[in-house]
Amino acid sequence: MKIAIDGPAGAGKSTIAKLLAKKLGILYLDTGAMYRAVGLKAIENGVDVTDETAVKKMLDSTTVDVKSEEGVQHVYLDGKDVTGKIREHRVSKAASDISAVPCVRYKMVDLQREIAARCDTVLDGRDIGTFVLPNAEYKIFLTASVAERARRRYEELKAKGEECTLESVASDIEKRDYNDSHRALAPLRKADDAVEIDTTDLSIEEVADKITALIGGRI
Ligand code: C5P
Repeated sequence: MKIAIDGPAGAGKSTIAKLLAKKLGILYLDTGAMYRAVGLKAIENGVDVTDETAVKKMLDSTTVDVKSEEGVQHVYLDGKDVTGKIREHRVSKAASDISAVPCVRYKMVDLQREIAARCDTVLDGRDIGTFVLPNAEYKIFLTASVAERARRRYEELKAKGEECTLESVASDIEKRDYNDSHRALAPLRKADDAVEIDTTDLSIEEVADKITALIGGRI
């Protein structure tokens, strides 16, 4: 069984996907973490994320691995655990920019398909239902207003002690939405057969209940 959960930043994808995976006892794969790892490498090496040739060169000597350790996804960049580092605010924009470079997408999508082929998996991302696994049994597209998504991200970043303002987080989210939905290859888009859930006024439990009902009460 494959469950595809797509949607813009802050719509609640990872919280819900993690919860579902735990309840169903299946693997959770956070695909955004992979693009974040590549974005982090570009930042650390001063590589221009819009220069396709430079990105390709960097990518040829880059390994991204994802391992589930005690139910928590860890991301390894060139063998180093970067799980915490990729969540920094500065990495979000780099991830969004670099994810538009075709060679990056093809490499990450191959890896995502390879991991998902091994076992039942809940994947969250932007293009799971449309591009990575178009035949997934269940497709969910989560949305929420920009204001609510910014509020959620802001709370998360503050809790981690990052310096930011609600306005800057909202503006970054809008830019990322635009970037993600306007790139040429596998843009952020609801699959025609996905079920859309607006999470603006819903609790995590309410969203989980809706999805549970959708997948036939298996949890
Ligand atoms: O989900 P998260 O916010 O961690 O993703 C970071 C960035 O990675 C997104 O803004 C998006 O540009 C990119 N991404 C993508 N395709 C996916 C998952 C994430 O392009 N399947």
